Order: sequence, then structure tokens, then C-alpha cells
Amino acid sequence: MKDEEERFRMLTACPACAGTDICGYQKGTFSGRLTQDEIKITDSQYGKTWDLSICGRCGHIFANPCPSAEYLTSLYSHVEDPLYDDEAAGRSKNFLSILRRLEKLIPEKGALFDVGAATGILLDLARRRGWEPAGIEPSSWAVRSAADKHGLGLIEGTLESASLPEGRYAAVTMVDFIEHTPLPFEAVRKARSILRPAGILVLVTPDIHSRAARLAGRRWWHLRPAHLAFFSRRSIDALLRRAGFSIIAEHRYAWTFSAHYLLSRKPAIQARLKDSRRASFLKRIPIKLALGDSFEVYAMKDSGA
Ligand SMILES: [Zn+2]
Repeated sequence: MKDEEERFRMLTACPACAGTDICGYQKGTFSGRLTQDEIKITDSQYGKTWDLSICGRCGHIFANPCPSAEYLTSLYSHVEDPLYDDEAAGRSKNFLSILRRLEKLIPEKGALFDVGAATGILLDLARRRGWEPAGIEPSSWAVRSAADKHGLGLIEGTLESASLPEGRYAAVTMVDFIEHTPLPFEAVRKARSILRPAGILVLVTPDIHSRAARLAGRRWWHLRPAHLAFFSRRSIDALLRRAGFSIIAEHRYAWTFSAHYLLSRKPAIQARLKDSRRASFLKRIPIKLALGDSFEVYAMKDSGA
């Protein structure tokens, strides 16, 4: 797919609420070709964004023109990100707190479907806690890794196009997924179709109106080419209502990372981390980033169509 017109789409309606009152928000700071390096999870190219538009109705901020789903899938399918698993301990802590909250809402547990399951860390934890795990992931490398490390059989592909059983799952999780897809409504709608009645969708995404985002300005770490959309509490509510969900619980989100990971995102320090003894020491120091610059919502599938 070489033609620019096929790789990008100009949007005339808000991807969250479908409102057509949209206008330019901010000129992009990213002008290169998108590569696999820029979309992997541990990418450090922050501060770079596409041209962004804003919705006058729900305040949603999104890439416009937006890379097409086909173009992104072709990139994500080839992503390899060995650094991701270096942070397995920190990620497990984050996922554990999500599962605990989810289990307060669904004490009986059941089948859980993880969207953008990466190397299967969340699903492996969920299975140990009594959930029946399933998930989808576009990267072949990550799917292989989830099979090798955890014996998980993830579906390789994208949520919108996968053929999945309707009404089957007690819960669907989308942790740091919705800001990566050019089709957020289609994704959430598909989640609704595979959830059983009164099933729960868990969604975690960065909050563009958080204090951390305002303080960091253009250096905010979530401003990356891989992020096509910047949600706020209001626009996520608009998206979920439109797709047939009601938010029933919410939290601010604090990430846990190792000291090594945080330092490695500073280019000036990268060279000094090559010393492997120093690196393995730093990897063992967990740091909780209590910035609360992401939010976590638990939304229940409404009855009706
Ligand atoms: Zn909108």
C-alpha cells in the first residue's frame, strides 16, 4: 500500500460521538513515515503527534488525517518489542489492580477477552485468578511470545475484523488500546456484541485533561505517533453511550515502572544503561508513577439493541 491516499483518511465526523462540528486543534509535530519502531509499546518518541482535530460536541481530540486501519494493521503485525516483557513485573501490578476491581463487579468471574493482549501478561494473571482467558493481538511476535511463555492461544488479528462468538464473555479488557485504533466506535461496538448481558468493558486510556498532561505540555509522554486519539472523561463517556454502554465505576490510573525503564526513556542516559549489572539492578526497583494521567472506566453493556 504505497499511495498516501490509501494510507490516510480525512475524517468529517468525530470518531467518538459522530458529531460533525469538528475543527483543527493543533498542527502535527510528526512528519516522518510511520515505522514499526514508532508504534511499539516501549517507543520513546514522545512529544510527536499527527495533525489533530477537536470535536465541538464531546471535546474528543484525534489525528486528522488519520492513518487507515489497513495501514496500521500492516505495521502492527510486524512489531517486535522485547523491551515490553522487561517490565513484566510492573505491568503485572497494574493488571492485578484492574482484575481486583473487575472481580468486585463480577465475583463469579467467567470468560475474559483481552483486546491488544500483547504478550499475554494480563491474561496469564487472569487465568491464575480463575478467569477463562481469550484475547486478540495483531503482532505475530507477541502472539508467539504469549504461546511460548504462558501457553496462551491468542487470536492473531484485529478486533473489528475477527470472527468472534456473540454474547459469550463476562468481561472485555482494553488497556491502552483505544487510543491506538482509528476505529474506536467499531471496536467498542464489537466488544458489546461479544459480551454477555450485563457484561463489563474495562477501558484504560491517557487523559489529555490530566494535570500531568497540562504540566508536561508538548513533552507529555502520551503524545506519540502511535496514539491517534486523546480522550477525556467526557469523550469516553460519549463513545461508550453511543455504543450502548453505561459507566458504572472509574478510577485514576497510576502506572508502575522500573527505574531502568524510566531512565532509559531519556536519550542522554541510554548509553550509561548499557552496563548490564547496573541495568539489572535498576530493573528491580519498582517506581509507582502516581501521576494519575490515565483513567480507567468500567462500563456495563446496556440491555436492548
Ligand atoms: Zn465528539
